[in-house]
Amino acid sequence: MEIQQLVRELKIKNDSKIVLLVADGLGGLPLEPGGPTELEAAKTPNLDALAKIGTLGNSIPILPGITPGSGPGHLGLFGYDPLKFLIGRGALEATGVGFNLGPKDVAVRCNFVTLDAAGNITDRRAGRIPSEESAPLAIKLREIKISGIEIFVEPVKEHRFCVIFRGEGLGGSVADTDPQKTGVPPLDPHAHNAESQKTAEIAKQFVAQAEKLLKGQPKANGLTLRGFAKAPALPSYEDVYGLKAAAIAVYPMYKGLAQLVGMDLVGKPTTLAEEIDVLAKAWNDYDFFFVHFKYTDSRGEDGNFAEKAKMIEQFDAVVPRVMALNPTVLAVTGDHSTPAKMKGHSWHAVPVLIAGQNVRTDACQSFGETECLKGGLGQFQAMYLMPLLLAHADRLGKFGA
Ligand code: ZN
Repeated sequence: MEIQQLVRELKIKNDSKIVLLVADGLGGLPLEPGGPTELEAAKTPNLDALAKIGTLGNSIPILPGITPGSGPGHLGLFGYDPLKFLIGRGALEATGVGFNLGPKDVAVRCNFVTLDAAGNITDRRAGRIPSEESAPLAIKLREIKISGIEIFVEPVKEHRFCVIFRGEGLGGSVADTDPQKTGVPPLDPHAHNAESQKTAEIAKQFVAQAEKLLKGQPKANGLTLRGFAKAPALPSYEDVYGLKAAAIAVYPMYKGLAQLVGMDLVGKPTTLAEEIDVLAKAWNDYDFFFVHFKYTDSRGEDGNFAEKAKMIEQFDAVVPRVMALNPTVLAVTGDHSTPAKMKGHSWHAVPVLIAGQNVRTDACQSFGETECLKGGLGQFQAMYLMPLLLAHADRLGKFGA
């Protein structure tokens, strides 16, 4: 039996509160062999105090050696096998801006681009056009009409927007039109399979009409389409875990991921401090809280070790406010590693800390990669974190007599 089916059958409802604090890309690497990682270099008195009374370990986001995107990374943390439940970027983006994707929908992430007179791309991000300028342009694209298809256009941020095509017989498997370089025109939408042929044709018509509407725009006079995707059918947190779950995040993609598993998006925080304000305010209304912090990953991707450590310190600083709410179980982890040294995501195992009720305290004295190797949780696949949290919260019954 699959783990989710097992959990569905064993789950128990009670009044416990579970908090999952996620610092995106938390795991790191030392700059020199034997040196500290970002997490170990950061001053984290609050997390270290929790490490002393909690239990630590390492989670493997997908499988050993596999570097995940944030989508599969989070699905794993949420307890969904990331190799079984695949989510396209378009579906994530659309959900992230609050669009409720239906079964007839194909969602696409779009970039405004700058084209020269010959139709070649001169800037793949339209000069990072500010949202105030790009949003009205995205909204203007709502004028586009294609017979038999409903079209939704949603501004996202800066040069990004998303389009949802709704209609019968639309497959979600169409290649990106971004050629990944300048000096060439955007590619034509190309279907990967027969079911997606119609989608590719519609996308082509959409681009042609959009370019007419954008003609004369100084920055955003063209577009590329990426990440075509239909909505995945994910069982909900309520169904699998019996949890009423809240998601507290700043960035659209993470809100989207949470919504796809049936979490409610609460508040409209723009900073970590505001996220904790939202957490406190929603405390009585939910059983489970997912709180997402983005900047650890961003600074890791920048390759900035010191700044990533600083972001971890900011993350550490809100821990007392979370503990003041008296969660039954608190987990602190990341969705993958983003070592500054590698300037990108990596496959390395991610530090995990669980504190609260029923914890078998281990000998760990601080929260860091090396210390986590000695932790009582050992090394496990991220998709088993949720059963562990439920168990610590007395929310799982016994298997068998
Ligand atoms: Zn991530």
